[in-house]
Amino acid sequence: MEHNQQVHYRAWAEIDLSALAHNVAAVREILPSQTTLMAVVKANAYGHGDAAICRKLWDLGVRWFAVSNLEEALAVRQYCPYGEIFILGYTPPEFAPELARNNIIQGVLSIEHANQLQAYAHQPVRCHIKLDTGMGRIGFRGNSPEECAEKLLPLFSLDRLSIEGIYTHFAAADSPNQDDIAYTDAQESFIIDVYDTLAQRGRKLKHLHFMNSAAAVTRPNPRATLARIGIVMYGLEPNYPVHVPIALKPVMSLHSVVSHVKTVEPGACISYGRTYTAQEPRKIATVTIGYADGYARLLSNRASALVHGVACPIVGRVCMDQLMLDVTDVPAEIQPGDTVTMFGTDGDASITADELAAMYGTIGYEIVCGISKRVPRVTVNG
Ligand SMILES: *Cc1c(COP(=O)(O)O)cnc(C)c1O
Repeated sequence: MEHNQQVHYRAWAEIDLSALAHNVAAVREILPSQTTLMAVVKANAYGHGDAAICRKLWDLGVRWFAVSNLEEALAVRQYCPYGEIFILGYTPPEFAPELARNNIIQGVLSIEHANQLQAYAHQPVRCHIKLDTGMGRIGFRGNSPEECAEKLLPLFSLDRLSIEGIYTHFAAADSPNQDDIAYTDAQESFIIDVYDTLAQRGRKLKHLHFMNSAAAVTRPNPRATLARIGIVMYGLEPNYPVHVPIALKPVMSLHSVVSHVKTVEPGACISYGRTYTAQEPRKIATVTIGYADGYARLLSNRASALVHGVACPIVGRVCMDQLMLDVTDVPAEIQPGDTVTMFGTDGDASITADELAAMYGTIGYEIVCGISKRVPRVTVNG
C-alpha cells in the first residue's frame, strides 16, 4: 500500500520510519565490522509496507534485502534497482531465467533444486546454498560437515549456477535455555566447518550467513559476512518476554477511532454471544476496527486499547469490523472521531504488539504480519 494514498481514518497502521532508523543503528552497533546487515523484508516487510520500508532502508545505506519468494523479490527490485536481493526459500526452477534477468540471488535447497535450476537457466543464476543444520525445514543435510561438503562439491560443476555463498537457519537462537544454546552452538559450528572444508577443497565462498535477529544481538559472530535481520529491525522482541540486549522502538502502531458512545444500565449485554453483561452503569465506546483488520477475535474480553492515554478493556466479542471498549474510567469526554490506539503509545500509556501476542499465545511477528490489506499503512517521520 502506498503511503501517499488517501486515508479515511477508520483503522490505520502508523509506520514510524525514525524508529526503523533507530533500530537499524542499534543492530549495526552490535554487529561485528565484518558482518553486513541483510534486511529481511519478506511478507510486505513483516506487514509494515515493503515500498516505504525498502526505500527508507536504502537511504540508511542498507544494500542487502531478503525475501521469501520471487514475487516479493520483483517488488523489492522496483524499490531498490541496485540492491542485492536474496530469496530465502523455494523458487520453482522454471523461473531461473527470471531470477537471472533481475539479478536476484536464489537459495539452493537440494541437489534436485540445483539440477532443475541448471536445466531451466539460460545464463548463470546467482545462488547461496542452504544447509539444514537443525531447523528441519529446507536445505542440504549431512551426518558430518565433511560429508555435507562432499555432497555440495558437484554443485560447483553446474555452469548455470554461480555459487556465491552458503547459509543456514537457527531453530532456537532466541532461547536462553542451556540446551537450546548448545543446539545453536552445534548448528553454528557445523556450517562454519562446512564452509572451511569447501575452502580447503578450493571452493572459498564469498558469503557465509547464519544469524537471524536473535543470534545477531545475543551471539554476534564475525565469521558471518551477512546477518539476516528481521524482527528487531521492526522493533519487536524475537522471544518476548525475554528481552534482547538492545533498546528497540516498535515501528508499527495500530489505530482506530470511536464511532459511538453510550452509557448502559446494569444487565445490558454487549456484542455477539452475550459474553459480557454490565454489572453497573458503564460507559461504552464502539471502535471501528475488528478481526477483518487483523485485530484478533481471540482478544475478546481480554485486551485493552488506549483512549486519551487510558487503557480501556475490550468488552464482549471482537466483531469483523467493530469492537466495544469500557471507557468508564477515562476522565476526558469521549466523542465519535477520537483516536483509539490498539497497540502503540498514547500519552504515558503504551501497549506493544508483543504484549498483545502473549495474551493469546502467539508472537509479535504474527500480529504485525496479520494486519490486513484493508488497513492503510501511514508513514511518519520519514
Ligand atoms: C524470516 C527469516 C529470518 C529473519 O528472522 P528474524 O527472527 O525476524 O530476524 C532470517 N532467516 C530466515 C531463513 C528467515 O526465514
